[in-house]
This record gives sequence, structure tokens and C-alpha cells, in this order.
Amino acid sequence: KDCLLIRNVCKTYANGVQALNNISLTIPPGMYGLLGPNGAGKSTLMRTLATLQEPDQGQIFLGETDVINQKEEVRRTLGYLPQEFGVYPKATAEELLDYFAVLKGFTNRAARKEVTEGLLKQTNLWDKRKQKLGGYSGGMRQRFGVAVALLGNPKLLIVDEPTAGLDPAERVRFLNLLSELSEQSVVILSTHIIEDVSELCTNLAIINKGTILLEAQTDKAVADI
Ligand code: ADP
Ligand code: ADP
Repeated sequence: KDCLLIRNVCKTYANGVQALNNISLTIPPGMYGLLGPNGAGKSTLMRTLATLQEPDQGQIFLGETDVINQKEEVRRTLGYLPQEFGVYPKATAEELLDYFAVLKGFTNRAARKEVTEGLLKQTNLWDKRKQKLGGYSGGMRQRFGVAVALLGNPKLLIVDEPTAGLDPAERVRFLNLLSELSEQSVVILSTHIIEDVSELCTNLAIINKGTILLEAQTDKAVADI
């Protein structure tokens, strides 16, 4: 299983905001929590890990793969659930997942059907597959986002502030799903909710104003927070 290594990553936006100030983290397999208040730099770091933006300097490695310079390779084994997952309200889950699977390169119809069926079952949406996404609850939409992010069996799953707007039952269900997935791959969860991290993540970092304040095993850190 691969670790994710982040070394001396910096990012300053065009408006002069220094969003990431020399970030270094070692993220082991399992579930990892990136905890910090609004504006701390979480989304900037998550988008950078997801190869959607480049840092001004620094290195990022997933196992042997250079995340900044081997983007295509990383993208093949990367899943990303953005903070606001836009869905097409008139499509059904089944239709849209099939469409994303085609984009991901599943050209064989039978193979695609097998993969999408497995993902809809894993995310507990199989019974709802013929419903339009516009009628989905927040939790169902987030689980659909996970199904999309899992296409291609990613080694790295990046989930940005996923529990905002979920009711308590949906939140627990969603976090348990992520926890199951973390047995197969690195799962990084960004959140401003301490319970998201303390309940499920084995390791955590706290970020504020673009700087890492603490990097620790959760069971050792929670008493101090
Ligand atoms: P530009 O290329 O004009 O410099 P920016 O990098 O400032 O653009 O912004 C890129 C995107 O990020 C835009 O969609 C913008 O709305 C958004 N954005 C700009 N400033 C902020 C901010 N402070 N926080 C979050 N998003 C921002
Ligand atoms: P978080 O996800 O922890 O809320 P962000 O990474 O979104 O933090 O933002 C970190 C800082 O960078 C904030 O001050 C935010 O306003 C700023 N920022 C984010 N995106 C942009 C952008 N595109 N252009 C300019 N400033 C941005």
C-alpha cells in the first residue's frame, strides 16, 4: 500500500493570499483527516492533490508516482469528491454513473455494467438507481459522488468537506462508507468538524492559515485538542 508524501508545498493566489505555506505531510494508508477552519487552505491542498491546480513549489508523491509531473498517471487511480458535487437533476443515478464510466474509459458495455452495478450496491443506491438525481437527498447525492469517485478503483480518494449539509443519520452512514473504503486505499477527508476526524480517522493533521499546526495519530491527539 502506498503512502502519500507532501513536501514543502506552497501556493500563493494571484490576489496575494498565501493559501499554503510550506506544507509537509506523510499520509499513510487508511483514513486521514485534514482538520481546519474555513479559509485554512484545505480545499487548496485537496485540489492540488487531485491534480486540479499546481503548487508554486514543492513535491507530492503517491508511492513512486510524481503527482505534480505525472498527472495523467495519477488521474487514472485517483478519486475526487469536490465540496460541491454538481449533479444533473434530470438524469437517473444509473444513467449518469454509466456516462461517467464511459468517460473514465470503460468502453466495454458488459464490464461497465458490472462495475456500475457494484458501485451502486456498495453506496447503497441500487434500489434508487432509477430515480432522478434531482429528487435525491443530500446524503444520497454525496453517496452518488462517492460512486463516481470510485470508478476505476482509485488508490487515492480525496473527499473535501463531505458532511456539510447532511443530517445526523446520513452523516454517520456516509462516514462509515468512507471508513470501509479506507481499507483498500488512502482516503483523505477534509473537514472543519472535529467529530468527523476523531470518530473515524486513524491519523490527522490540523491546518490553519496555510500552515500545519499538528500532525499526529488521532488517538494520541484528541485528548490535546
Ligand atoms: P484570476 O485568474 O482572475 O486571478 P483567481 O485565481 O483569483 O482568478 O480566481 C479563480 C477562481 O477562484 C474564480 O472562480 C474566483 O471566483 C475564485 N476565487 C477568487 N478569490 C477567491 C477566494 N478568496 N476564495 C475562494 N475562491 C476565490
Ligand atoms: P478552506 O478549504 O480551508 O476553506 P481554501 O483553500 O478554500 O480554504 O482557501 C484558503 C485561502 O485562500 C482563503 O483565504 C481563500 O479565501 C483563498 N482562496 C481560495 N481560493 C482562491 C482563489 N482561487 N483565488 C484567491 N484566493 C483564494
